[in-house]
Amino acid sequence: MNLIMLGAPGSGKGTMAKLIAKDFALPHISTGDIFRENIKNQTEIGKQAKAIIDRGELVPDEITIKIVENRLKEDDCKDGFILDGFPRNLTQAKALENFAKIDRVILLDVPNEEIERRMSGRRTCKDCGEIYNTETYDKTTCAKCGGELYQREDDKLETVRNRLEVYERQTAPLINFYQDKIFRAEGKDTPQETYEPVKIELSLVK
Ligand SMILES: [Zn+2]
Repeated sequence: MNLIMLGAPGSGKGTMAKLIAKDFALPHISTGDIFRENIKNQTEIGKQAKAIIDRGELVPDEITIKIVENRLKEDDCKDGFILDGFPRNLTQAKALENFAKIDRVILLDVPNEEIERRMSGRRTCKDCGEIYNTETYDKTTCAKCGGELYQREDDKLETVRNRLEVYERQTAPLINFYQDKIFRAEGKDTPQETYEPVKIELSLVK
């Protein structure tokens, strides 16, 4: 079963991809993880990607496509996979058609206001990196190490709104492209509740 996980930044799509990967014994292919891994191991592609990211630019589609194509050739993908973070735009989606047949696309649908609320409440410990939310934790220091909590640039409302806009602009054409394969999951209170209908749908595939 070949799957794609779609969802806005902050929607919880990574969490859902992990639940699916575990239940259906599929490798979870996160392009973010692959890039981080390649950069850490200083591979050729990792060096190229790092230079681009350091300049503050986006990794070009052809590099991302190549990385995913190579990853899907590995043995653990022969009975299926779940892609997370790819394809991100129509160019990538069309390229993917050349090396994989997709069975289902899971679209995690969470209202923007909800994502903005969740993300802008995030606070990170500057010493140990632990993440809190102001809705469930109202102190200004870390419960684990006593470090000071701060709001990451990425979690500021303005940044969150920009990222949501970019996501919508790029993803709207994907929803159309995959219209026969999309399964829409509505965001609920907990990841498990959100995941339930997805699990039922996927158990019917094949
Ligand atoms: Zn801490």
